Amino acid sequence: MVRVDFNVPLNDQFQIADDTRIRAAVPTLKKVLGGGGSLIIMSHLGRPKGPSDKFSLKHIIPDLAQKLGQPVKFASDCMGAEAAALSAALKPGEILLLENLRFYAEEEGKPRGLSDEATEEQKKAAKAVVKEQQKAFVKKLASYGDCYINDAFGTAHRAHASTALIAAYFPNDKMFGYVMEGEIKAVDKVLESPERPFTAILGGSKVSSKITIIERLMNRVDNLIIGGGMSFTFIKAMGGKTGDSIVEDDQLQLALDIMKKAKEKGVAIYFPKTVLIADAFGPDTNTRVCAINEIPDGWQGLDAAAAADEWREIIMASKTILWNGPVGVFEIPKFAEGTKAVAQMVAEATAAGAYSLVGGGDSVAAVNQMGFADKVSYVSTGGGALLEYMEGVELPGIKAIRE
Ligand code: AMP
Repeated sequence: MVRVDFNVPLNDQFQIADDTRIRAAVPTLKKVLGGGGSLIIMSHLGRPKGPSDKFSLKHIIPDLAQKLGQPVKFASDCMGAEAAALSAALKPGEILLLENLRFYAEEEGKPRGLSDEATEEQKKAAKAVVKEQQKAFVKKLASYGDCYINDAFGTAHRAHASTALIAAYFPNDKMFGYVMEGEIKAVDKVLESPERPFTAILGGSKVSSKITIIERLMNRVDNLIIGGGMSFTFIKAMGGKTGDSIVEDDQLQLALDIMKKAKEKGVAIYFPKTVLIADAFGPDTNTRVCAINEIPDGWQGLDAAAAADEWREIIMASKTILWNGPVGVFEIPKFAEGTKAVAQMVAEATAAGAYSLVGGGDSVAAVNQMGFADKVSYVSTGGGALLEYMEGVELPGIKAIRE
């Protein structure tokens, strides 16, 4: 039984908009098939509140069958009699896909359908009921297979039935798949034994969501490049004029603390010197280039547009690079230049011998969109899971295999 992360985006016609996660799982799935195993694949898709056509994994069957080069059987209810029968009858080399595990609340172990007026007591009671039902769910799921592989890094930070609890049923027959192994090795390489100089490039909208990571990185990196929306909180904290740029006013002191700590640790921090500012948020706005600490009211910084010129030397001299978060609103083409420049430089530094890890949802989307995914050393498939792992949290999905 392989728990994969087939939580892929589907378009209105239920076609797969981005098959990265399915492609990533193929080596593990082929390994099982090639080794003479009967393959049972399980995953979640989206956030269904119960069974629904929209979130059915049946939509991915044609793509999966094509990638694996053989037919894929399907159990349309992961707890149904059909699932048990199909798994019992599965021959070596055959494939069975189970329907979306999250059609059952037991997968996540969270009660559903509670009214907004529910009291804490009622919520607690409902949770206890689901937790109890979850035991039977896990037991039944585990009964389908002889061996458990977790290859769903994207959900490794969740203690769900199929990502963590099920492992206890396979004390001697549980392992990581190649995706999980690759992710763990890539992050450990960067955090535990980086070749120097080590540069982290952080972007995205908020400092508050990245504090723990910044603190952890502070003990490891030589350079910290901070771009994107979060740079403005630092600039304002230092007394700069940030106009209408995104700023977390309740994080100003924290920004100063981070800078102080960096100084103590000898970590060089770089912000964009200039940014592309706009007179509103959106594609049809007036723009101009401005010093990051002199943004007039009525204007906001939306891209570290001159990133290439400002950061080239530091990035090109780096031997290890970690990149998380876009340095501009890259979803809007005219504010994507800075992020594109960073992607280009990380690719160049990689070609020159650096090890580069790109992770966290938006920067991954950016390198994919800009065509640089195969020009960096490793692109993580896990958004939240990667961030938590980098923060030093022992992820339930990893713990369940290791312990
Ligand atoms: P996060 O999820 O915190 O990594 O943030 C990613 C988001 O940050 C993306 O959707 C970007 O559009 C956004 N972002 C990047 N730079 C800026 C900026 N200067 N102003 C507002 N949003 C930004």
